[in-house]
Parts: sequence; C-alpha cells; structure tokens
Amino acid sequence: MKVLFLAFTEADGSLSRAALEALGAAAAVGPVTAGLISGAVSADSLGVEKVLTVTGPEFAQARYSTDAAAAEAICRVAGADLVIAPQNSRTARALPGVAQRLGGVVDTHVTSLSPSIEATRWFYRQRMEGVLTRSARPWFVLLEPGCAAAWTGSGVSPIEAVPCEVTPALQRTNVTGTQAPKTEQQTIRPDAPLLFVAGAGWTKKQKDGQPHVAEAGQLILDFIDAAQASLGSSKSLVDLSGEGQAVLPFLSHLNQVGQTGSTPRHAKGLATCCHGEEPHVVGWRFVGERRAVNLDANCGWARGKADVVYVADAFEVVKRVNQLLRAGGSSAASAS
Ligand SMILES: Cc1cc2nc3c(=O)[nH]c(=O)nc-3n(C[C@H](O)[C@H](O)[C@H](O)COP(=O)(O)OP(=O)(O)OC[C@H]3O[C@@H](n4cnc5c(N)ncnc54)[C@H](O)[C@@H]3O)c2cc1C
Repeated sequence: MKVLFLAFTEADGSLSRAALEALGAAAAVGPVTAGLISGAVSADSLGVEKVLTVTGPEFAQARYSTDAAAAEAICRVAGADLVIAPQNSRTARALPGVAQRLGGVVDTHVTSLSPSIEATRWFYRQRMEGVLTRSARPWFVLLEPGCAAAWTGSGVSPIEAVPCEVTPALQRTNVTGTQAPKTEQQTIRPDAPLLFVAGAGWTKKQKDGQPHVAEAGQLILDFIDAAQASLGSSKSLVDLSGEGQAVLPFLSHLNQVGQTGSTPRHAKGLATCCHGEEPHVVGWRFVGERRAVNLDANCGWARGKADVVYVADAFEVVKRVNQLLRAGGSSAASAS
C-alpha cells in the first residue's frame, strides 16, 4: 500500500495544524510520501520518506484548475493507492476531480482511518456513524480537523520537484479577493480549547423588564477575547437580525452551531442563555466537557446534555468571570 499525504501549504510554506493531523493519520497507516503544493514550501525536515512538491506563484492561490493539475501531477508520480488530505475548502473542491481523472474514488468528511484502512464518517447531520472501506484505488480520504493526533516527526526528507505545466487555459480564473459576511472581528477559532455558545437569551428582557443587548455584546466579546475562546451561537440568536430585532453585530450565520449549523470539536464548551435542542444535542456533540449557564433550572436540553448546569444569570456570571480573567488570567477564572 503506497500512502501519499497531500496538502496545500500555508502562505509561509508551513503546514496547518489540520494538515499535520492528516499527516499523522497517514503515517499510522504506513510509510508516507508527502505531496505539497503552494507558492512556496518549507518541508525539508518533515521526517517522511520523500516530499514531492509543485511550487510557483501560479499555485499560491486557491484555484480549482491549478490545484487539481498540481495534485494530479503529484499523484501520478507517487503512484499512490491511498491519498490522505486534510478536509478544507481547497481540498474539498479540487481532490474529487483529481480522483475522477485517476479513475479513483474519494470520501470527504472522514473522521478516522484505522491502520486496517477502514474510514469512519457521519451521516444525516452527524446522527449516524458509518464505517467504510473501498477496493477501488487510488482512494482519496479527506480527514476532518480535530480527529487525529498531529504529526510530530522530524528529520531530513529528500525533496523532489514535480513538473506541472501551467497552460493559459489553467489561468483563466484568478482569485481577486475574498468576500466574507460582515463581522466586526474574527470570533471563530477552530483551534481554541473552549467553545463559548451564546443563545438568544442574551437579547431577551431581563429581570428589570428591559433587554440589554449592548451590554451582552460587550460581555461576550470581553470573554472571547480574554479566554481566546471560539464563539458559537444558536440559530435563534443569529436569525434575530432578519426579524428586525436588536442583535449582536459581530455574529453571523458562520457562528451557528447545530443541526443546520456546524458541529465543532473543542475540548470544552460553555453554553450561555441557550435552550435549543439542536445546539445542545447536535451542535456540540463532539465537545469534550460541557457546561451551561441558564436561569431556567428546568431547561431540558441544558440539563440533559451538559455535564454541569449553573442555574444563574449569565450576565452576572460572565461579568464576574471577565473580572477574574482580567485580574489573574485563565487559571483564576477556571478555579472560580
Ligand atoms: C429543522 C430545524 C433546524 C434547526 N437547526 C438549528 C441549529 O442548527 N442550531 C440552533 O441553534 N437551532 C436550530 N434550530 C432552532 C432550535 O430548535 C431552537 O429554536 C433554538 O436553538 C433556540 O435558540 P436559543 O436556545 O438561543 O433561544 P431560546 O429558546 O429563546 O432560549 C433562551 C434561553 O436563555 C435563557 N436565559 C435568558 N436570560 C438569561 C440570563 N440572563 N442568564 C441565563 N440564561 C438566560 C432562558 O432561560 C432560555 O433557556 C432548528 C430548528 C429546526 C426546526
């Protein structure tokens, strides 16, 4: 079984954490050849059998035509049976086409790969897990981030530049910029140890009979900033803007967790002012240790799905935690 780890490097030529995790998973199967594509690659100490590279300014941008051509060139030189890549927008767009060109097959959103080459992935919005294996080769496997231990090996690896012709037709499309939902700051941090989930309760009338949306926004942002946590949201909260209600301006649908949102994988989760089934049951089902703050002691989903429920006012709790974080760092806050 010839195993190829395939990735697009970061702008500085390094490998992202998700790429290192895919490499770790590939190395668990057998000796690995690495195939790296980008504007520049720095991989001479990756500690694998061999590194095949396609580099050059044409390969720096995420573009299907050149990404697929480069990946195809590497796969043909490697002659791999199994190609393991990190799951991201670039690999998800380019590698199915490469599998087709090579007469192979591809599976995306894979969550584990055993040494006996059985892959697992979730179906029906993360409610059923399937275990699959395939006889067709090459088999492309795109591994979700957060599912495997990152590769820590090092050592000199021979590098071989693979030729890849860039015809004018391949360069008809140019990436000129990125359009993203308007958010005031970056609040989604997939690598953060903690996921903070904000629910619609933050915008509801509080005990004085008034909503306190501006204060809620500041408390949440202060917490996210001090704890370097990632910010998730319930659907109700991100949907409020469509209903003309006061909203938290830094939230977009990209923050939404749940059945129709994302299912991130953080070590810990803290849900605040959140009642919904979908965020609790589906949204953070892969979160390791889960706590919730809710005024309602009978909030069924918080009770059913969190390890610890604090029956308390989230405004007061988060204000106090922020004070502790400011005063003594995260250890003081976690002790409290
Ligand atoms: C097909 C379908 C798909 C869906 N997909 C998703 C999805 O992907 N993600 C998702 O989130 N939802 C989804 N929903 C919606 C979901 O069912 C819920 O309606 C939604 O999650 C509720 O949001 P919430 O818990 O933030 O708000 P609410 O239900 O309004 O809960 C607010 C909570 O805040 C608490 N609270 C208020 N003030 C305070 C305070 N000061 N301190 C502490 N607690 C306080 C209240 O006690 C209450 O429990 C979906 C629904 C359907 C039908």
